[in-house]
Amino acid sequence: MDNCIFCKIIAGDIPSIKIYEDDNVFAFMDIMPLTKGHTLIVPKTHRALVYDLTSQEASDLFAVVPKIASALKETFGPAGMNLLNNNGAKAGQSVAHFHLHFIPRYDETDGFA
Ligand code: 5GP
Ligand code: ZN
Repeated sequence: MDNCIFCKIIAGDIPSIKIYEDDNVFAFMDIMPLTKGHTLIVPKTHRALVYDLTSQEASDLFAVVPKIASALKETFGPAGMNLLNNNGAKAGQSVAHFHLHFIPRYDETDGFA
């Protein structure tokens, strides 16, 4: 979709630190990480909100969530991890392309409430 930052990242028109890619999903480091290793996963098809995802798209995305979470755990050694979605502007969504956040949490103060 024109004018979507995440569609441009998927297309390679905006650079990102890629974590994972397959035919359906793309995962990359957040440009303003809330904690070390903060990562986003998105469907390659532009979908703004969770209501817009097909079951297949949701399934394809969540199928790789354990793999990505495990890789982040292995790489960064967090004590825990928040997985979250801000759905709609009122809920804090700032980029209108569905995304799930992986936010690793650390024993030391990590700055994320
Ligand atoms: P939201 O507030 O919509 O749930 O989260 C959007 C996230 O996208 C934010 O954490 C923000 O830092 C991240 N973000 C916004 N623009 C870019 C960008 O151009 N590149 C990357 N890698 N992340 C971005
Ligand atoms: Zn998009």
